[in-house]
Amino acid sequence: MGLIVQKFGGTSVANAERINHVADIIADTYKAGSNVIVVLSAQGDTTDDLIEKANEINPHASRRELDMLLSTGEQISIALCAMALEKRGLPVISLVAWQVGLQTNNTYNDARIRKISKERVQAELDKKNIVIVAGFQGVNAYGDVTTLGRGGSDTSAVALAAAFHADLCQIYTDVDGVYTADPRIVPSAHKLAEITYADMLELASQGAQVLHNRSVELAKKYHVNMEVLSSLEHVPGTKVKEVIKMEKTNIGGVAKMDNFARFSLVGLEDRPGVAFKVFSLLSRSSVNVDIILQSVGRSGSKDISFTCPLSSLEAARSVLQEHRDAIGYDHIEVDDNVAKISLVGAGMMTHVGVASDMFEALYDAGINIQMIATSEIRISVLVNKDDANRAVKVVHDKFFGDED
Ligand code: ASP
Ligand code: MG
Repeated sequence: MGLIVQKFGGTSVANAERINHVADIIADTYKAGSNVIVVLSAQGDTTDDLIEKANEINPHASRRELDMLLSTGEQISIALCAMALEKRGLPVISLVAWQVGLQTNNTYNDARIRKISKERVQAELDKKNIVIVAGFQGVNAYGDVTTLGRGGSDTSAVALAAAFHADLCQIYTDVDGVYTADPRIVPSAHKLAEITYADMLELASQGAQVLHNRSVELAKKYHVNMEVLSSLEHVPGTKVKEVIKMEKTNIGGVAKMDNFARFSLVGLEDRPGVAFKVFSLLSRSSVNVDIILQSVGRSGSKDISFTCPLSSLEAARSVLQEHRDAIGYDHIEVDDNVAKISLVGAGMMTHVGVASDMFEALYDAGINIQMIATSEIRISVLVNKDDANRAVKVVHDKFFGDED
């Protein structure tokens, strides 16, 4: 088979034994006649450990120097894995981002891939080398190292698969596929044989940890055939593609996110321009707002609520307090004990009653909904964080049945 990109996550390369196992998987693919590009993450908790090391020295280190440090984890993995393949007598070469010519913009810690120069990797493939690339990193216009954001190796792999028109991009991880809900919360959750890019993207963006959401975005844009599978167990994984055979429920899954806060601005004046004022101030402070709810105005006053990531809580609070007079509100309420539960599935576009079934499940469980947001293929509700896991379970049971 033509070209396969195989990406292995941190757990899959955590120690010598795991690296040897990964080398066997790569060797089998190569011996079966494929060209192989491998993308690796840093071993185990290496990236977290490096962040800790940086914080010990300087918690306010520049983003450039952080990337210089964080990118080293992947370099260790690729060299070790190349050594394991050398030992098996196979032709192999490891490359970091500047050697690959994986160019990004200048946003250290969260860089976007601009372009991949193909010459070097292609030359190595032509020589029949297995090419092992350091994931998560790129190089910017200044020739400096950047990183793609936490979990970014998936995106490195898909970008390479797109650039080289790979026949398949396999994402090997420590779970064996994409589930209808996190199996640690819902033991009856089941593995999907297939999922569409659109559903996968919503699930990944709404808290399913299995794939970096930008990797799914890229895969959708460039029609990369993706497969999520386990490096530990030899079982079929989940295929991510444009069109799938729908399962009977037409629902992809349920996801949970609990790393954000809800703000309510109470007693705003009910006049034009208020929402504009609030959200332009937040956007100027780089606060990424998610769900927004505005109440109907009554006796000249109204409330606006919104959610934002926990990491932006203080920035949001201070900009709103600073401009209290200009905005004109009575008081602010902040609640960081909230969670967002999302039901995802392209099937809901053509099925009536999905929202009411979801709300019924929550009602039956006595779980209060604080906010609701929808897209064409998603319904999200904000609930108290203490109810979050129960909410995931009852919503999942409603749509997938309780098989426990
Ligand atoms: N090593 C990086 C991280 O831990 C990138 C990745 O694993 O995808 O975030
Ligand atoms: Mg990952």
